[in-house]
Amino acid sequence: MLTRPEYNDLTIGIVALQGSFAKHAYSMGRLGIKSRAIRTAADLKLIDALILPGGESTTMTLLLENENLWEPLADALEILPVFGTCAGAILLGNQLEDDRVRCFNKINYTAERNAYGRQVESFSTALVVPYLLDQDFHAIFIRAPKFRDIGDDVQTLAVYGSTPVLMRQGQVLAAAFHPELTEDSGIHKYFVDHIVLKSR
Ligand code: GLN
Repeated sequence: MLTRPEYNDLTIGIVALQGSFAKHAYSMGRLGIKSRAIRTAADLKLIDALILPGGESTTMTLLLENENLWEPLADALEILPVFGTCAGAILLGNQLEDDRVRCFNKINYTAERNAYGRQVESFSTALVVPYLLDQDFHAIFIRAPKFRDIGDDVQTLAVYGSTPVLMRQGQVLAAAFHPELTEDSGIHKYFVDHIVLKSR
């Protein structure tokens, strides 16, 4: 996969309290892009974009609050592009009725958690991402959410059956699946090329 000279001075902050944050660092690393683990408010300085990884949205909410990171992260999300995957995509949406999950209201949908069933119902599929990727993307769904009440301001970039699984609203990209768990950095590259670099 081609790297670009513009990648040299980028740093992507990856929220690293819980879940699959390390794999996102590999996905960026394969593109030649630096990343930084975000564990405290101080870590949020001098980054160009954020990733909210998959994991468990209730646990992530608890940890963000306990580490006093929820508010600083909400402030950072006022300006920075963000890519949320699975639990991260849940947190970026509109507030759920379940207040164990505290959402950032950055993309206009409401997540239904575990909408495909339990862990054993996890699956992978060859996902077509029209216009953005030349080849199918091996998409891994683990206790994935579905997104309801999707606003007109949200662009659907890929569907599984008729269900939107990759969505964008302005500088916010959200995937119901785990693009960081495959060797293909194609979706990360889309995020950087079309959202992060365009926002500078
Ligand atoms: N089911 C998890 C949640 O609701 C998300 C699963 C994942 O991130 N793989 O937070």
